[in-house]
Amino acid sequence: MCGIVGIFNKSEAANYVYLGLHALQHRGQEAAGIVSTDGDTFYVHKGKGLVNEIFNKKGVISSLKGRIAIGHNRYSTFGDESIANVQPLNAHFDLGDIAIAHNGNLVNANGIKRRLVSEGAIFNSNSDTEVIIHLIARSSKTSFFERLVEALSMIKGAFSLVIMREDELYAVRDPWGFRPLVMGKLDDAVIFASETCAFDLIGAEYIRDVEPGEIVVANRDGIHSYRPFEKQKEHKCVFEYIYFARPDSLLWNRYVYSIRKKMGEVLAIESPVDADIVIPTPDSGVPAALGFAKQSGLEFDFGLIRNHYVGRTFIEPAQSIRNFGVRLKLNPAKDVLDGKRVVVVDDSIVRGTTSRRIVKMIRNAGAKEVHLRIASPPVISPCFYGIDTPTKKELIASSHTIEEIRKYSTADSVAYLSLEGLKSIMGEEGFCFACFSGDYPIEFER
Ligand code: AMP
Repeated sequence: MCGIVGIFNKSEAANYVYLGLHALQHRGQEAAGIVSTDGDTFYVHKGKGLVNEIFNKKGVISSLKGRIAIGHNRYSTFGDESIANVQPLNAHFDLGDIAIAHNGNLVNANGIKRRLVSEGAIFNSNSDTEVIIHLIARSSKTSFFERLVEALSMIKGAFSLVIMREDELYAVRDPWGFRPLVMGKLDDAVIFASETCAFDLIGAEYIRDVEPGEIVVANRDGIHSYRPFEKQKEHKCVFEYIYFARPDSLLWNRYVYSIRKKMGEVLAIESPVDADIVIPTPDSGVPAALGFAKQSGLEFDFGLIRNHYVGRTFIEPAQSIRNFGVRLKLNPAKDVLDGKRVVVVDDSIVRGTTSRRIVKMIRNAGAKEVHLRIASPPVISPCFYGIDTPTKKELIASSHTIEEIRKYSTADSVAYLSLEGLKSIMGEEGFCFACFSGDYPIEFER
């Protein structure tokens, strides 16, 4: 879970990357960084917190000079939260300077790292991304491009990357295509970003997706595309559609918003409820709840009001604050809920804690019945490709039946979208459903 942006050939490139990161803030709120270059020097600024907190000090953005820049929003899925792990990672090696920003998780980084360390390599961070820099720097090939291809052929897993040198920008998607990466243009500049919502803010035009297994190079010779890797079966992450991507993004040629709404519609067909109103868990449950209400002919309303100023940083520090839990974020609108039979729609259940608290909250606000409808199948297996899910043990659906989950949540009924229902929307092929099926396209190597 991370957001990446890269831009080539634009004056004040860092400014556009900053705006892109701002639009991609939902993909990571823990830390962010930008590296830019004027063709000679690399300029770096990184920090912990939200994009505007890190870059809003006077002079910070203007110190990031040049016409090429890349940026990264971090949501740690690998490595700890230390500043050394904040990306873009940059380094100097025999061919000059390099900076890299990575979205995804590698599944064989540990083994490669152990080998490199035994051969004398020194690692600055414990992020899996640093392995890529080492492999490029240690390659015996001569050209940068050959070294890049050699390095990327050795790694497995999810990697959408933007990589910059003094005079060029590379964009890469792994051969399985787990994470998104789109390409756009802004005047004479080429721009890459995790999602199209970044282009909308900047005023860039979406051109196309970087394809699975593709390397796109932008330099003074123009824009060139290469497909040097062995072809793999495509496995785009379906959870991007369910929860992670922004609803206004065009993801793999389909709008996230429409897909989420459709998930709610199919859920209503599969598991209808005799009720008075449909409410979402804001914000992630909104499109699915609209779809559910439309399909079932029930009134849609906002029964839970969200405080938008609660960040992870606020929730995390003290146990005493954490105990306030979901109440920090959500509060019921009592007049909407009182005396009603309520359907509450959420996008997913992970540990189950949110659902339990929400059901209690709705009932305490006077609801007569509370029916929980989840617009995705039960999450039964952790993700090794870049979505931050807990261990299998902590996933409530991995060890509990739906009836047990109903009891735990204290709802009157619970139903999930079926995997077949999800596939009827997405198609059988081309997606990774591992979190719902346990069928992993590539095994994680310890
Ligand atoms: P839980 O209490 O763990 O069941 O949390 C489920 C809620 O977290 C759902 O309402 C989702 O919107 C949201 N969610 C789903 N997946 C993730 C994730 N990987 N990281 C953070 N939040 C998530």
